[in-house]
Amino acid sequence: MEFEYIDAHGHLNDKAFDADRDAIKAELLEQKIATVVVGTDVAMNEKAIALANPEEGRYAVIGQHPSDGHPEVFDNDRYRAWAKLPEVVAIGECGLDYYWPEAGEWSGDEQKEKRRQYHLFAEQIDIARSVDKPLMIHGRPTKGTMDAYVDILAQLREASRAPGPEIRGNAHFFAGDKEIARQFLDLGFTCSFTGVLTFTTDYDEVVRYLPKGSILAETDAPYVAPKPYRGKRNESKYVREVYAAIARIRGEDPEIMRKQLNENARRFFAL
Ligand SMILES: [Zn+2]
Repeated sequence: MEFEYIDAHGHLNDKAFDADRDAIKAELLEQKIATVVVGTDVAMNEKAIALANPEEGRYAVIGQHPSDGHPEVFDNDRYRAWAKLPEVVAIGECGLDYYWPEAGEWSGDEQKEKRRQYHLFAEQIDIARSVDKPLMIHGRPTKGTMDAYVDILAQLREASRAPGPEIRGNAHFFAGDKEIARQFLDLGFTCSFTGVLTFTTDYDEVVRYLPKGSILAETDAPYVAPKPYRGKRNESKYVREVYAAIARIRGEDPEIMRKQLNENARRFFAL
């Protein structure tokens, strides 16, 4: 099936959709919008896999988020088995999240927490390589810094020195600057952007800087709905607004950009 739009990162598995998930599935299918359903822990991964149906444009990404919810012990065997499923198109969201001390949610030994996240990420990099699938990277720096991105890039470079298939991936909800983007490009990674582009100009420069083949559009639904839906529950169908924002910021023809973004997502996830 030819999809009009592809949401490269959303959470249709989130409890925010428990009440009307079937209606949303039907609507996405009818509007020819594909969605990549991203897991963050065991329960969310199970829901993502159950929702996946490539024929209907729903794909799963399985992984353990660096800091969301209760830190689960990483069940490596279970994740390895999931990673092999054909409907699983990437591993994540995984990475490093250093935002916690700012948010006041984290208290304890900072170095110990960073080590925990490093090892959790390392296991998932290894799994992605073992099945030759891309990584869906979550990076969130301490406010006013690029620290988590710097460490993610260092870890990816270190991992890529070990023998094995090339490490591929996407920096989801990209909030880095041009220099960080350049380093992801050097590794062959893409960067994805959300509805945030519709209400701030903070990322315009980096959106213009990236080559057109290195950008993905996502919603991260149910979070951060784009204008004019701000404050409401976000949905994959609003990825249209993200596509339009990317075309506008880059000064490209919307239809040409739409095709380009679809091609990027198809290539990235091997759809
Ligand atoms: Zn997400």
